[in-house]
Amino acid sequence: MEITEIQVDGYEKVVRCQDPESGLHALIAIHDTTLGPALGGMRMWPYASEDEALFDVLRLSKGMTYKSAVAETGLGGGKSVILGDPKTMKSEKLFRAMGRFVDSLGGRYITAEDMNIGIPDLDIVHKETKWVTGLARAEGSSGNPSPYTAEGCLIGLRAVVEELDGTTDLSGKHVLIQGVGAVGGALAVMLKEAGAKVTICDINDARVEELCKEYGFDAVDDEAHLDVTCDIYAPCARGAGLNDDTIPKLKCRAIAGCANNQLLEPRHAQALKDRGILYAPDYVLNAGGIINVGVELLPGGYDENEARRRIARIYDNLKLVFEIARNENIPTSEAAERLARQRIEAARQTS
Ligand code: NAD
Repeated sequence: MEITEIQVDGYEKVVRCQDPESGLHALIAIHDTTLGPALGGMRMWPYASEDEALFDVLRLSKGMTYKSAVAETGLGGGKSVILGDPKTMKSEKLFRAMGRFVDSLGGRYITAEDMNIGIPDLDIVHKETKWVTGLARAEGSSGNPSPYTAEGCLIGLRAVVEELDGTTDLSGKHVLIQGVGAVGGALAVMLKEAGAKVTICDINDARVEELCKEYGFDAVDDEAHLDVTCDIYAPCARGAGLNDDTIPKLKCRAIAGCANNQLLEPRHAQALKDRGILYAPDYVLNAGGIINVGVELLPGGYDENEARRRIARIYDNLKLVFEIARNENIPTSEAAERLARQRIEAARQTS
């Protein structure tokens, strides 16, 4: 196994692992550990080149620094990527080698699930390193993060309606959810319980049908969902949905969903502001999962009540982001980034 360092400005450590025996070719990026060890998921993807994988791991690890700084998880930002096809290249040898690679960083990087990596894969990684989070609840770990992400979104939506209408009451508000999977589906149910009117769409017709039958949601075709007039549009499917094509069509007063990287480019935050649409920055709203995982690393280990208490702070963090954006007359995404940088800087001053 050969581990080599790649020098990248603005990143604490970026390392490459090549292991001909298992076929592992992976990168780990530690962006910033001022606030704590760098926690971020492990992704497996058939990248066309190492440059493409490097671009991804750098972008994602930096995103984790900001997400954790705003959420006050006591963690820094990192990420790992395995180059390869998850359908054909997964093996015990590969994940064992990845475990040794993670272990070589001595806990400065802590891994978790991400795209194409599940608990069975991490269980193998865990045989070689203790620096793994998000394993099964039965093993004393924090388990599936999705319900906590959904809970955090609901709490955040209360801050959104307060910013819109001066009340945290969601009853009577119309929320359009795109993507009713693990997070979006749970959020839809919680919103309904809170008295909101919920319209859903998904490319998975069977899932939509099942949820409408059980909970009485309204449904709309995914291709037509932007025609729906609503108070809040909650993208809970995939990234880059807010772009030059979609922003002029939006018929909502606010955007607040769990999908990662909703803005195609940073400038789209300004486009939303220009349209008078309030945007809840995705990584502030969807931090429930990482907050839950972060609780595993506290001295007493995982405690669900503590996780819930910390997730409730998403409300305060969003309020703070909206306040900064209002006072400075800047897009909310810029305000969130400022808040993250302020928190990192404050920790740097006192350390
Ligand atoms: P999921 O795979 O369980 O659900 C996604 C749903 O979106 C599926 O039902 C899928 O059919 C649907 N979908 C996919 N493409 C679509 C499209 N083009 N139009 C409409 N529907 C589409 O995933 P999830 O865990 O619920 O995560 C949803 C989003 O939230 C992702 O962007 C994820 O990165 C982000 N996120 C999830 C968590 C978590 O804890 N699961 C935490 C933070 C962020």
